[in-house]
Amino acid sequence: MEPIGLQTMLDQVSKSITDLRSDIKLPEAKIQYFMQLADVMLRNIQRYSTCLIKSFLLSRGILFSEEDVVNLINELHVPSVFTDVKYLEDNLAFLAYISKCAIPVPKGIELGFQKVTRSVPLGLRKGMKMSTRVKIEQSVSRVTRIRDMAYYIPVIETLRLVMNNPDARAMIHKELPQNDKSICSFKDGSQFKSHPFLNKYPFALRLSLHLDDVEYLNPLGSRRIKKKMTMFSIRIQNIHSTLNASLDRIYLVMVVQSKLLKKYGYGKILRPFIDDLKKLQTDDGVLVELIPRHYVLRAVLIDVLGDSLAVHDIFELLSPSAKFFCRSCYITRDALVNGELGDIHPLRTEESLNENLKNLKSGTITPSECGIVKECVLHELDSFNIANNWSFDPMHDLLEGVVSLILKAILRDALTEKLITEKQINEYIERFEFRDAEIRDKPSANFTKESIKSSKNILNQSAAQTWTLLRAFPFIFWDLIQHKECYQVLISTLLRITYFSFSSKMTLDMLEELRKSIEIFHKTFVESRIANMINKIHHISHYVQKILEKGPSVFDSCMLFEGKFRDRKGQAKTCNNFKNLSYSLAKRHNFKQVHNITNHQYDTNSKTVLKSYTTQKTDLEFSSLLFDLSDEVTVIQSFTSNLIHFSSGLIVKYINCALKCYGIILSIIDSGEEYIFLIQALEIIEFCYTINAYKTKITKNILRIPKSKVFKRKTYSLWTTNNTVDKFLYISLKYFDE
Ligand SMILES: [Zn+2]
Repeated sequence: MEPIGLQTMLDQVSKSITDLRSDIKLPEAKIQYFMQLADVMLRNIQRYSTCLIKSFLLSRGILFSEEDVVNLINELHVPSVFTDVKYLEDNLAFLAYISKCAIPVPKGIELGFQKVTRSVPLGLRKGMKMSTRVKIEQSVSRVTRIRDMAYYIPVIETLRLVMNNPDARAMIHKELPQNDKSICSFKDGSQFKSHPFLNKYPFALRLSLHLDDVEYLNPLGSRRIKKKMTMFSIRIQNIHSTLNASLDRIYLVMVVQSKLLKKYGYGKILRPFIDDLKKLQTDDGVLVELIPRHYVLRAVLIDVLGDSLAVHDIFELLSPSAKFFCRSCYITRDALVNGELGDIHPLRTEESLNENLKNLKSGTITPSECGIVKECVLHELDSFNIANNWSFDPMHDLLEGVVSLILKAILRDALTEKLITEKQINEYIERFEFRDAEIRDKPSANFTKESIKSSKNILNQSAAQTWTLLRAFPFIFWDLIQHKECYQVLISTLLRITYFSFSSKMTLDMLEELRKSIEIFHKTFVESRIANMINKIHHISHYVQKILEKGPSVFDSCMLFEGKFRDRKGQAKTCNNFKNLSYSLAKRHNFKQVHNITNHQYDTNSKTVLKSYTTQKTDLEFSSLLFDLSDEVTVIQSFTSNLIHFSSGLIVKYINCALKCYGIILSIIDSGEEYIFLIQALEIIEFCYTINAYKTKITKNILRIPKSKVFKRKTYSLWTTNNTVDKFLYISLKYFDE
């Protein structure tokens, strides 16, 4: 048995309780209950072991009064192990201690007051207990003032804590523009080259701001009301994209009730955030005192993300249903409805915007003549202008927009023409074998005639499910889409558009193909008259320019941000503070993100083993390929690397003799130095553009491939079509996987 010191034990307990508390769905009462229970157990174990020692000493005739014996029994006493982490504030102090940095604390921002009229029973005095109340027959109305509050988690303090980690600073200094003309980040876009602040400080942090309204429901009894909250979060763009794909890299900065946002406006709500950003965007920046060298924290707001409603709101534009509905150009609704793609309309520029604002002020034009209500408060920040924002989000535009529209329109059209029945739609989806790689986002077979024929552009699937359904659509409905050419063209072009829009690396050839796919899609859509035109079809006409200006559009996807809200919704149901939900959310979420930041890793090759076992090499199939390994080997049954899961049966892309190939993982062996993949090679017969997939055949070749030669951005399953003649296996692509 390894000896253990008291301090080690206390540190372990502090860490465990901190981890536990960072699960914001867990109510504080449960954490307190657990600590009480563990405390009682610990006392009982101590009493039990003291009794055992005493009876042992008694049996040996040793007196308890001897000094050594007294010391021994005293040393058995362990003080309460939870004292340092009993409350959330203690936990924060613990995190400050281990990170050696100040911890952000949410600040209440007093916005103003509101008068509330409450009915107060006559004769009820303060402090009077219910049981002693006299019979109350009358009540009076009393007007009270309550404070309107927003809660701000200071962005400087959050960024300081992130950059306190030397690995974070090293990663940011390693981020350089590509020298092969490919586009992998903002640094490869034209805006980086012309950005005055980033030209001077290329390693300043680039921030994306996301906003969204989230509904919270108090599930309990009489206070069963919904509250809409607006959450503002940021993400640091400079962090490597594989790490930035984690929910933990999104940091909440502001929580406010949506009705207060409407009452006071963005200028008042975002004031502390904007003031902090102004400090971060100066030559002096914010000094972070570090040993051996201080670090100057500088940051700049690059884009604002969210659904169309939210972005139009913060940009002070008319709603997306206005005549001038596009935030990047002056296309009109008439032109859109008449079937124009819209790339010929003049773009909004800083100059045109200033002109619009000047004319609005003088009353020469009205908001409906330019789509603008007033100046956006974010223009206070140097070099931020809504005309340059260009942040079209592929999750809202494609998955929750165009893709939903097209899948639903094809099913509706096919139902009307009796090419398929409602029962068959659900049966085919249910029967399709999505297999391991896509099982988490498997679409639900929940289609009804009414839902398909309804005018609302809603598919009753999550964005991730819609994406899988699009990829699987030509496989599931192979026979159906052969009926009309427009079905095939719409699906195949959408598959390519989605593939490019979610790829984190774009070459000029890929951009050209994206441009062509958008054009063909739009032409086919207009000609087929399969559904009514929507704004989002116009939005995608801006994607190519957006990528050239600001880098891959996948970085504007709101999928992660919206995933983050699921956490917060979970907490709202259990935090039991319904009076001041925004404060509870800010406090618990700040705690969670501080905990996450202190645990951030910056190794893009890191892996987490989920399951493994040790065995004799001779017991393994294909052991001859492992000739140089020792007799006892560790088999990795499953591991994750940057959120991608690897286990036997999945398909991976790898390099063999300088060729890029795909194969089935048979097993993964830990050689002690590196993981070895035993892979059954797949033969690629051809690439099928219409389904964005490789047609393959399983070969008998078994290969030994080191982990360094395996691409880790995506794993696949082998799919088959529902065409009884086609016996091939397919690898359906999702995004560029290198
Ligand atoms: Zn436009």
